[in-house]
Amino acid sequence: MKICGLQKTTLLDFPGHVAATIFLDRCNFRCPFCHNSGLLDGEAETLFSQDEILDFFKKRKGILEGVCITGGEPTLAPELEPFIRKIRELGYLVKLDTNGYRPEILKNLVFSGLLDYVAMDIKAGRSNYSEAAGKEFFKIKYIEESVSFLMSGKVPYEFRTTAVKGIHDLKDFSDIGRWLAGNSPYYLQNFEDSEQVLCSGFQSFSKEELEEFLNVLRPFLPNALLRGTEG
Ligand code: SF4
Repeated sequence: MKICGLQKTTLLDFPGHVAATIFLDRCNFRCPFCHNSGLLDGEAETLFSQDEILDFFKKRKGILEGVCITGGEPTLAPELEPFIRKIRELGYLVKLDTNGYRPEILKNLVFSGLLDYVAMDIKAGRSNYSEAAGKEFFKIKYIEESVSFLMSGKVPYEFRTTAVKGIHDLKDFSDIGRWLAGNSPYYLQNFEDSEQVLCSGFQSFSKEELEEFLNVLRPFLPNALLRGTEG
């Protein structure tokens, strides 16, 4: 397992908790708007050993409450489960960020009592999913399985979509609303361009456009909110 980044403190990544975020390498998607493009293909530099990370968390006990594990796609890491166990033994809560394409790993971690919160990306409406995920031979059934599992309420969770001009339009949000219909927490966040984005040329939406998407979502997802567009 390659640990390629550590954000030592975050008040935003783990709802309700002061946390740190660990970045693991590799991903099974190639979302063209990915802003962690350096982490996707397994060539990122390992910045920390597991022991160094565990030492860090030993020293931060009482200051930090939670650990967010993100990527890349963390469910690809073969040592993920034992690593999470070690973090939990130190007394930390664990949040997993996932694209949801490996539902069996997600379920196993939840049924083993290893996760306190899951944030799953909803990349697009289902007919647009493979384009948004940048993945040929894409199987939506894996995403649907993870969605259904999370909606069954075995673990606190959220769904979230990064809205990208050039990828999404109203049809995506109409489908997402009908698909996820219910009381799930759902966050719509705007794309932000940067030099790390995998493919250039995408743009963010205006706040008015995001609110239009929200209006399409809310009849089905009354808890849908914009994230990160304050001001
Ligand atoms: S944005 Fe897409 S390609 Fe990038 S890490 Fe997330 S799932 Fe993988």
